[in-house]
Amino acid sequence: MMIAYLDQQLRLGPGAEAIPCLGGGDPGPELVAASQDFGGVIRALPAVVLRPGSAEDVAAAIRMALRSDGLTIAARGNGHSVAGQALAPGGIVLDMRSMGRIELVWSDDGQPCADVGGGVLWGELLEWGVRVHGMAPRSWTDYLGLTVGGTLSNAGISGQAFRQGPQIANVAELEVVTGDAERVVCSPSHRSDLFFAVLGGLGQFGIITRARIPLYRAPPLVKWIRVVYRRVEEYVADAEWLVKGGVFDYVEGFAFVNRGDDPANGWESVPIGPGSVFEPDLIPPGSGPLLYCLELALHHDLNEDVDKKVEEMLRALKYINGLKFTMEVSYVEFLSRVNLSESESRANGSWHAPHPWLNILISASDIVDFDHNVLQPILKDGIGGPMLVYPLLKSKWDPRMSVVLPDSEVFYLVALLRCNQPYPIGPPAEELIAQNREILNLCESNGYDYKLYLPHYESQPEWADHFGRTWARFVDRKARYDSRAILAPGQLIFSRAHPPSSS
Ligand code: FAD
Repeated sequence: MMIAYLDQQLRLGPGAEAIPCLGGGDPGPELVAASQDFGGVIRALPAVVLRPGSAEDVAAAIRMALRSDGLTIAARGNGHSVAGQALAPGGIVLDMRSMGRIELVWSDDGQPCADVGGGVLWGELLEWGVRVHGMAPRSWTDYLGLTVGGTLSNAGISGQAFRQGPQIANVAELEVVTGDAERVVCSPSHRSDLFFAVLGGLGQFGIITRARIPLYRAPPLVKWIRVVYRRVEEYVADAEWLVKGGVFDYVEGFAFVNRGDDPANGWESVPIGPGSVFEPDLIPPGSGPLLYCLELALHHDLNEDVDKKVEEMLRALKYINGLKFTMEVSYVEFLSRVNLSESESRANGSWHAPHPWLNILISASDIVDFDHNVLQPILKDGIGGPMLVYPLLKSKWDPRMSVVLPDSEVFYLVALLRCNQPYPIGPPAEELIAQNREILNLCESNGYDYKLYLPHYESQPEWADHFGRTWARFVDRKARYDSRAILAPGQLIFSRAHPPSSS
């Protein structure tokens, strides 16, 4: 009955599918899956899950929501949000994984590009690009089980971003269906306001049904390096020196616990390469509770000897003598390096436990203070997973995009990627959420220049504060492209019932 009603209302094209509740109010597995995310903290059941086969199906769903009394629509990429951002309570979840086409195209100026459906995983694009065409995008995320539409709605950050910009700075064209059901192909030169609004736009202005991503020759090999620092001051000085002018293609890093009895957070989390071991005797006496690992990579060709170039760069760095690890891997292996952690985490149960993650973008001028006042006192025992700390350059981000950044040219991503076993083996999620709050309170009370990445707020004044001077533009774009506030209700920015206001 419900399916017949939906078919009649929607007139879905071939390949599309509508999955409502089963009989007797049983939500069924698809709706249950669409009611939760990787964060595992917030849940909300939709009325229906739709698997669109085309942009026209997406437009049909939006038109139905526009005709309805109060239906909302959330695109769901791979559901890897951590605070309910892809949920649609009582509304329509569009399972974008059904839009998984990838096609090789050339732009007018001869640049090879991939035209990818909004639901394609970055890992699928990598496989297709490298194995079939020997080419790849040049900006990535650490983990590749994320969709193109999902990361382009946020930013898409990894160790290449200091040089290539985030993923949102590496898009040539988008096909978007706006919240007013208009299908638009937009680019930096055509309907550019919508193009830039959608990039980092938290799904508020339109649903990305296709993205055109420039491709470049994939390097065959990667020299992967890790070096360990005793003091944060030396770590950040070297990291910033490298992102401003080094030869490396990738610069990341993380803080870890200065202990040997903790495989997830301690010394053992650092070595790479078969048989390599962390030699604790090399750590200078009197070192603090946290140490810092700078992670670097250099792309190269099969017969190219890069050791000299690498050694020259490393010679200038102030890492602890001897605490250096290197490994030679293929480009695909390097970009897939997080797969092993995912398998381990699935095996030990932590993948399905709650993930109260906290991601902060913070000005370089505050990072040492943040380390002394937040990381060292509060997180000295680790968080059960990586504590990423690495610099990015604001000049690689186009200010017309919706994403907001700290004020200074150099800023850091601090990513607290908690990965604990379910309670009672691991800590209760509430405790970790309270710790996140404590960290943010300290950022406020110390006056740090910071913004949340993958932000989550629950009231419009908090969102207005987050966007700061770009809030009026954000509100204006909402009125222009999703005037009834139908899209991405899980972000809790605008309410479907009330028109957005610019106050
Ligand atoms: P979802 O969580 O499904 O959606 C995210 C938001 O985008 C929602 O509001 C949704 O409605 C909207 N959306 C989804 N698809 C579309 C679309 N086609 N059109 C319009 N709006 C859409 N981020 C990084 O930057 N770098 C990393 O290295 C990184 N690593 C991660 C590792 C793991 C294990 C996890 C869980 C997350 C990681 N993230 C990283 C965060 C990731 O970028 C976000 O979770 C992002 O939301 C992508 O996930 P998704 O594709 O599952 O999107």
